Amino acid sequence: AEEIKAFKPAEKTKDWEKEGVPYAALCATFEKIESTTKRLEILSYTSKFFRTVIAASPGSLLQVVYLTINRIAPDYEGVELGIGEGLLIKAISEATGRSIAQVKQDYQETGDLGTVAQRSKGMQPTMFKPKPLTVPSVFSNLKEIATTSGQSSQAKKIGIIKKLLSSCQGNEAKYLIRSLEGKLRIRLAEKTVLTALAQAVVASEADKKGKIAKTEDIVQGEDTLKTVFSNLPSYDIIVPELLNNGVNGLGDRCTLTPGVPLKPMLAKPTKAITEVLDRFENQKFTCEYKYDGERAQIHLTPDGKSKVYSRNSEDMSGRYPDIVSRLERVVNDATKSFVLDCEAVAWDIQEKKILPFQVLSTRKRKDVQEADVKIKVCVFAFDLLYLNGESLLTKSLSERRTKMHEAFQEVEGEFLFAKWMDGQSIEEIQFFLDESVKDSCEGLMVKMLEGPESGYEPSKRSRNWLKIKKDYLAGVGDSLDLVVLGAYHGRGKRTNVYGAFLLGCYNPEAEQWESICKVGTGFSEEDLENHHKVLKEHVIVKPKGYYSVADSGPNKPDVWFEPRVVWELLTADLSLSPTYKAAIGMVNAEKGISLRFPRYLRVRDDKKPEEATTSEQVAEMYRAQASTQKASGGGAGGV
Ligand code: ATP
Repeated sequence: AEEIKAFKPAEKTKDWEKEGVPYAALCATFEKIESTTKRLEILSYTSKFFRTVIAASPGSLLQVVYLTINRIAPDYEGVELGIGEGLLIKAISEATGRSIAQVKQDYQETGDLGTVAQRSKGMQPTMFKPKPLTVPSVFSNLKEIATTSGQSSQAKKIGIIKKLLSSCQGNEAKYLIRSLEGKLRIRLAEKTVLTALAQAVVASEADKKGKIAKTEDIVQGEDTLKTVFSNLPSYDIIVPELLNNGVNGLGDRCTLTPGVPLKPMLAKPTKAITEVLDRFENQKFTCEYKYDGERAQIHLTPDGKSKVYSRNSEDMSGRYPDIVSRLERVVNDATKSFVLDCEAVAWDIQEKKILPFQVLSTRKRKDVQEADVKIKVCVFAFDLLYLNGESLLTKSLSERRTKMHEAFQEVEGEFLFAKWMDGQSIEEIQFFLDESVKDSCEGLMVKMLEGPESGYEPSKRSRNWLKIKKDYLAGVGDSLDLVVLGAYHGRGKRTNVYGAFLLGCYNPEAEQWESICKVGTGFSEEDLENHHKVLKEHVIVKPKGYYSVADSGPNKPDVWFEPRVVWELLTADLSLSPTYKAAIGMVNAEKGISLRFPRYLRVRDDKKPEEATTSEQVAEMYRAQASTQKASGGGAGGV
């Protein structure tokens, strides 16, 4: 709060509205953020900068926010940065007059192309001072680079990057190149950006009235913005609304809207039916089949446009034209707009039954023509979040379910409601679990059915949704989704591929991936060949600051990778480890947690590396295991 009071925009910002926010000012903020690991300092630098922008050039705030989170458009628009290294090396070389070999060598040494670009620029004699870069110009150039496609697009992109680089001064080249790579990596989590934005807006509102913002208003503003953003994750809508009308009442003005996908609600793992019963003691709950396919959030806007979004809010309508076209058969006449939460599952038309996830994963990912679809899918709908102009998020699950059943009709093999059972006894649940497995499902989802706790909580892994998987007895209750950090060269039959891999979980607070295990089992020969092909594109020289790993000792991998690939693994149990870094400091001050007898299950290309199992989840699993072991006097816990 002290920091917030002490604000006064500097004299030099008076031209920002006319000229645009200088890119240098943004980069100076990035540099400060990068120089500390303290979350509160990071937050304060960010909110102070946002506040300056609001005072001096509010029209640039949206672009500033996007550049800060290293994006240029919402996820669902599919406009992405992530320019390849080769192209950037070429642009740096041409812009600074250094040979490609020299640039590559520097890159080998530093491991960061941004730093290489800044240094290379520093070696160039400067004839005249270039016109300073501004946030609007950098933003529009980045957008142009990201959207340029087709013939000679490479040359066009290099041309724009060279022009930008030639205008860079000081540290701008470093952050420009990192932004282009899609790897700003200044350890600024999006959650912090939202908090900073709320603080800045509340403080600026007080500034305008010549008052000092009250701490309670700031806290309230942070809560409001967090909730609003999880219901309507669109800076394009929220930022202008904040600037025009402030944070008060934002929740009434910005609500769930078909066409803007929201991050789905997630479940917590459980190991036993008794654990489920303990959690829902004296509460009404329901069990549903847990289908093993791909999450699909289906939207229909009032103007009749339908879209299918992934769990990452990517637009999958091009991938599932069959789902889009069948909607008119399953939507009742009175249903004019909706947001529906579903699982798309591979379907055997002859046998009329569910096929395993592996079959679905062979379906083509990019734009397909409906006539070419080989793998048929059936949609299993389990929740309705919006209907005919009304958000249903705070309604009870039983009410949402009733409305869902009224608004849609089932069509066999195309659109069905998730099977459910409202029995509350252990026997009924056990029976339903067995049935779900017989029907080729992964197990059950058990959900709070009545009361305020049964509302839909976007983007939250909530204890109001629990999952029981069929193989929960064999393992730690759940599989883990981990990022491939490195690999070990294969031997014998595996000489041409990687033979084993180093995996890591994600720590969102530190913005780091922490090593958790080495895995070499569960792979078919074909898996290993595919993994080799994909991973060799992501080799890096050495582990970077966003890895918490041991860079020496027996577990040091032969090659390191960019954090790109997510795999699902099973494990027998978890143990404390002096070598692995996962969740270090969470259950033991010096030791991390590692997986015992890990086994590869499948690729999770529906998850980004930042959506891997978190260190906190790993710690939670370890604690749960420790308590069941204690309760049963050793051995793994059971029903
Ligand atoms: P995993 O899919 O490995 O269990 P996850 O992190 O993808 O993990 P969880 O919250 O753990 O997601 O599990 C819920 C997932 O199960 C949902 O994302 C959804 O795709 C799928 N699912 C299948 N059936 C249902 C259902 N009836 N209700 C909710 N989710 C379901």
